[in-house]
Amino acid sequence: MWAAAARRAGLALAAAAAALALAAWRRRRPPVREVLFFPSPPSCTEALLAEAAGLGTTGRPCPCPLPQGDSSLSRLLRHLLSARRSLEICLFAFSSPQLGRAVRLLHRRGVRVRVVTDAQYMGLPGSQIGLLRHAGIQVRHDQENGYMHHKFAVVDRRMLITGSLNWTTQAIQNNRENVLVVEDTQYVKPFLDEFERIWEEYNPINYRFPKTTND
Ligand SMILES: [Zn+2]
Repeated sequence: MWAAAARRAGLALAAAAAALALAAWRRRRPPVREVLFFPSPPSCTEALLAEAAGLGTTGRPCPCPLPQGDSSLSRLLRHLLSARRSLEICLFAFSSPQLGRAVRLLHRRGVRVRVVTDAQYMGLPGSQIGLLRHAGIQVRHDQENGYMHHKFAVVDRRMLITGSLNWTTQAIQNNRENVLVVEDTQYVKPFLDEFERIWEEYNPINYRFPKTTND
């Protein structure tokens, strides 16, 4: 019994030490400042997603013929998968299966995920929004004539990911797009403020339902 308690205490200590080491490493390393350009050549992201899912890299390699190397998509995925506490996403269109998997994986890992999107686009075939909602992720959408046209995400309230890229396979593989990734509170803060403002505005309790002629 004593041994079990000691082992538990040892494990707790090891976990605390690992968390401290991670925090110290984050403080020491220079802040992320990266520009990603698309289109991103098709590449296999299975290993990256499997590793993030805790499945390790010891499993069989993915049998698909795509190259395994680094790409703008894999770098974007890595930045997203670095989330430990929170992820705010504000996207006009979201249909990339890989990015959808990454977001659901983070939700399963206990990261608080919130998604804001455009009402006209979220119901289109291939949209990830239904899958995100099905997984229990909070999603809110606009109720306006204009588009909810933002394309940004904030990771752990420390990293801003923003640019022209919608998270769609079409855009990732075919379009010329840019994405800026910065860890800089001067930029993160206004985007977080904007997210909170939109999040509240799109709260379902604020919906106005137009009167139908049958009323
Ligand atoms: Zn593959």
